[in-house]
Amino acid sequence: MAIASTEKKSAVREAIRDKQRIVVKIGSSSLQHGQTGDLDYIRLEKLVRELCDIRNQGKDVILVTSGAIAVGRKAVGIREITGESEVQQMAVKQACAAVGQARLMMTYQKIFAEYNQVAAQILMTKNTIVDDLNRFNAHNTFSQLLQMGVIPIVNENDTVATYEIEIGDNDTLSAIVAALVDADLLILLSDIDGLYTDDPRHNPDAAFISQVDELTEELLAMGKGSTGSNVGTGGMNTKLQAARIATSSGVDMVIANSRDIGILHRILDGGQEGTLFVAHQEDFDLPQFVSQLHRQ
Ligand code: GLU
Repeated sequence: MAIASTEKKSAVREAIRDKQRIVVKIGSSSLQHGQTGDLDYIRLEKLVRELCDIRNQGKDVILVTSGAIAVGRKAVGIREITGESEVQQMAVKQACAAVGQARLMMTYQKIFAEYNQVAAQILMTKNTIVDDLNRFNAHNTFSQLLQMGVIPIVNENDTVATYEIEIGDNDTLSAIVAALVDADLLILLSDIDGLYTDDPRHNPDAAFISQVDELTEELLAMGKGSTGSNVGTGGMNTKLQAARIATSSGVDMVIANSRDIGILHRILDGGQEGTLFVAHQEDFDLPQFVSQLHRQ
C-alpha cells in the first residue's frame, strides 16, 4: 500500500495552502441532529461562515451538499421511505427531494447572505457529464459563476434522476464536480475521521491512514462492504471511488470529520487533518467513467 513518509507528508500538506479552487462536500448525516433528523443550524452556520471566509481569502469555493431528501422527509412528516413497489418508493423519494431541496437552499441562501456572499444552485444528473453539450454548458456556467465571485451550491437533481440517469451519491458527485471545474482540492466532510486500515468501530487495532499516495487495488478493496450512516448514501466505498475520480483528474482530496467544522481552515492551512489522497494526472476519461456508474 502506498502510504507516505512523514517528511513527504508535511511537504504535500504545506502545498495545500496554495490551493485556489476548493470543492467542499457535506453529507446529510453531518447536517442533521442524529436523534431528531432536524437540521443542525449551528453546524450549518459554521460551515457557511468557514466557506465565506475561504471566499474572502480570494479562493473559489463550491459547496456540494446533500440533505434534500432528508429535509423534505422531515417537512412532510415521513420517517422512512416506504411504498409497495420500487417505483412508488422512488416517487416518494423524489417528492421529498423536491420539497427538501427548496428548503435547504432557502436556509443556505439566508446564511450566505448574512455574510454578504452570493450563492447559486446547480442541480446535476449523470447526463450533465455524459452528454457533451450538457457538460460543456455546465462547465461554462461553473466558470462564469466563479468568475463572478458566486458560490455554487450543488446537489444531484433527485427530483428527476432515476436509476438510469442517477449518479447516486454525493461523494461521487462532488468528485465529478471537482474534475469538471478543474478544482485544486476536494474536501469530503463526513462523520468519520478518514481512512483506517479496517473498520475502527469493530476492530480496535485499526490504524489511521493520514496520507495515500496511490490508490491501490488493495486499498479500494478495503472500502467494499462499507455502508456508512443510514441517512446519506456514502460509505467508505463511495469515498474511495470519489478519491479515484478526483486524484486521476489531478485533484487532491481530503476526507475529514465534520464534527468540528473549523477543520476546514486547518486543512487549508496545511494541517495534518483527515486522510489526504494525493493527486496524479493520468489519462482519465470522465464522461466515459461516469457513463458506467451504477448505484452501489
Ligand atoms: N442527493 C441526496 C440528497 O440531497 C443525497 C445523496 C447522498 O447523501 O449521497 O438528499
